[in-house]
Amino acid sequence: MFRVNQDYLKLPGSYLFSTVARKQREYQAAHPEAEIIKLSIGDVTQPLAPAIVEALHGAVDEMAHAETFHGYAPDLGYEFLRSAMAKNDYQAKGCDIKADEIFISDGAKEDCGNIQEIFSKDSKIAVCDPVYPVYVDTNVMAGRTGTYDAAAGTWSNVIYMPCTKETNFAPELPKETPDIIYLCFPNNPTGSTVTKEQLQTWVDYANKTGAVIIYDAAYEAYISEKEVPHSIYECEGARTCAIEIRSFSKNAGFTGVRLSATVIPKDIKSGDVMLHSLWARRHGTKFNGTSYIIQKAGEAVYSDAGKEQLSAQVAYYMNNAKVIKEGLKDAGYNVSGGVNAPYIWLETPKGMTSWDFFDYLLDKANVVGTPGSGFGPSGEGYFRLTAFGTYESTVAAIERIKKM
Ligand SMILES: *Cc1c(COP(=O)(O)O)cnc(C)c1O
Repeated sequence: MFRVNQDYLKLPGSYLFSTVARKQREYQAAHPEAEIIKLSIGDVTQPLAPAIVEALHGAVDEMAHAETFHGYAPDLGYEFLRSAMAKNDYQAKGCDIKADEIFISDGAKEDCGNIQEIFSKDSKIAVCDPVYPVYVDTNVMAGRTGTYDAAAGTWSNVIYMPCTKETNFAPELPKETPDIIYLCFPNNPTGSTVTKEQLQTWVDYANKTGAVIIYDAAYEAYISEKEVPHSIYECEGARTCAIEIRSFSKNAGFTGVRLSATVIPKDIKSGDVMLHSLWARRHGTKFNGTSYIIQKAGEAVYSDAGKEQLSAQVAYYMNNAKVIKEGLKDAGYNVSGGVNAPYIWLETPKGMTSWDFFDYLLDKANVVGTPGSGFGPSGEGYFRLTAFGTYESTVAAIERIKKM
């Protein structure tokens, strides 16, 4: 009999979002008249901007003619998109990143999940707690995380870096030295950020200890404060220790279109092996490129019209974030996030657990959010609301919460 990858069997069920959906369904069945508002959405809701749609149509038309038809895309991405990113996302911000250090891919989730393959199987990872689940789960699948303690919700061979009120929702340098450090700022789920100076501490630490930082910058477009870095390459020395992952999902509404990029500077080496070469080999072997049509849409993100339309989209969501944050503050809640990220992280009142508060909010306000404990043990006692709804439903939800 064939045998399956035993590491997959170690994964606990994806309990969080299925439980949220089930509880909402059951409540609705018992209260058919209730108009439930979802502030749990981790997906954009605004349609693609006109500049993007125009680029998509144009690329489709090109595909319709032999002279302009495109087959397989280059494994590593089209030059036009890699150059637009290098110029706009990096060089314009003083970061020394070249087009050939950018690998185009079809999603940051994919890249965050796949990147671990190029590291030794006995590497030790460090993650923030709470955390976007992909970093840990993909290392579980790779057999790197040891055994799961269901009561604690932790893996024996993972270094957890608590991000709580006490640490201002930022991680502290771990006591035990990791090989791979996953960081995500602005953060999902807490909406927190670090300053350039704080991030520099991590870059210095990684260079000193020989660790690699995998920096998930999916929410870069939501940054509003000037001391918050848009890229880890704003820090000195990041070229020798940091990989950065970019997504087109949250800044440009590509969650259903699929486009991302991973930056690997040629200076990151283990002995004389460049990580850049390994990822190029991996990408070339397992990936046949992101569609030409989608990469053309990605290029439009960097056009003048694209930039203007997308900054209006981000502003729309961030206005929702402000409505949520200010409303909750008025209602007496302790809240953070929502300034450089579309996520608001609130402390549950009166020591309620995250799930108790979920039930309470659903019952008293007919509002659905996401329990913080679902993102890791240090998320217990917290709750995530998102700014990805419509303005009208966001305002309505906050009015109800204020009346609770
Ligand atoms: C949404 C999200 C991603 C996924 O982005 P895709 O490009 O749509 O795969 C990656 N990281 C974090 C932290 C996210 O919240």
